[in-house]
Amino acid sequence: MPPHPETWLRVTPQGLHCEPGGFTIDPVRPVERAVITHGHADHARPGHDAVLATPETLAIMRARMGEAGAGRVQQPILPGEVLRQGGVEIRLLPAGHVLGSAQVVLDWQGSRAVVSGDYKRQRDPTCAPFEVVPSRGGGLGGCDVFVTEATFALPVFRHPPPEEEVAKLLKSLALFPERTHVVGCYALGKCQRLIRLLREAGWEAPIHLHGALVSLCRLYEELGVPLGPLAPATVAAKAALRGAIVLAPPSAVQDRWARRLAEPVVGLASGWMRVRQRARTRGVELPLVISDHADWDDLNRTIDEVGAPEVWVTHGRDDALVHALAQRGIRGRALHLVGLGEEEDDPPPGAASEGANAAVPDDGGEAATAAAHGVGGAAARRGETEDAAARRGEST
Ligand SMILES: [Zn+2]
Ligand SMILES: [Zn+2]
Repeated sequence: MPPHPETWLRVTPQGLHCEPGGFTIDPVRPVERAVITHGHADHARPGHDAVLATPETLAIMRARMGEAGAGRVQQPILPGEVLRQGGVEIRLLPAGHVLGSAQVVLDWQGSRAVVSGDYKRQRDPTCAPFEVVPSRGGGLGGCDVFVTEATFALPVFRHPPPEEEVAKLLKSLALFPERTHVVGCYALGKCQRLIRLLREAGWEAPIHLHGALVSLCRLYEELGVPLGPLAPATVAAKAALRGAIVLAPPSAVQDRWARRLAEPVVGLASGWMRVRQRARTRGVELPLVISDHADWDDLNRTIDEVGAPEVWVTHGRDDALVHALAQRGIRGRALHLVGLGEEEDDPPPGAASEGANAAVPDDGGEAATAAAHGVGGAAARRGETEDAAARRGEST
């Protein structure tokens, strides 16, 4: 009998720790050996001694935290490569979340766990698509435990095709050609995905960037993701940006920085824009439901495809997901990992660069309310209604 993953993959204060391998996945504190799923700051933190990750994630870490912070020893692991550490086989598979994002496949003594990090199934022209772990016998789906996030694990969260959301932005630009369209988007992943989606939709003009977004866009281009003409959104040029698209961090679109633009139409690209109230409290005129996380349907579909009899949930709306899994005979376990989900889409209160978001009073309460209703399906129905109304409102 192979050992159950519970006996060799444990939750510690540092994070999910593989005992025989002596490494921790996405540790929240400095450790000797870290395996990093992707470059978002809640997963990739500075100060580890040895870091194992995809070459892209290592490059992102160096760009964000400097050569010293990204790990004394940085070991890239390529697609298809298998590394052995303390008898544990380690492989990485694309997670489809941001450039370089990976799932960690661990095999030890005939027992297999897949730690997916953050992931999505929607198409993303800036990164490799999510791959379902192949079974040891050859087909698809084969692990004893699948470790998943649950950021949007409520039936209310169904992300529309991102192309539709980008079409809304272009439609607004056609309707209001005098106004600057400023769209809040997270610096790593969302920003570059939005740019690529705009290019695919035929927007060829320069896209103007807030200074905080420039360096990661440059890095994406260096790593082989062309973004087309980009220009700075400098203060002096703001009045001249009529009819232009300006991208900025979510906090900046709500403060004085954005108000100096020419009659700005304020947009925000986030999975949370599905909740109409969030868009309203953030003063977002043009909510774009574009998320780099799996929605409710994709979370459940993915879990079915990987075929694990047991699923561990790292963070997010674990209660709703565990409940839904139980109904299908899958054992669910909430890990309650701390420190995850604090960056993308939902910045932490008090973060220096996210002051405007910190002022939003009801984020937590709203999510909790939705969670309470979500399990019973009431929120799903209510959400659909709200969303239908939202769509009617937006289309005018
Ligand atoms: Zn992430
Ligand atoms: Zn995350």
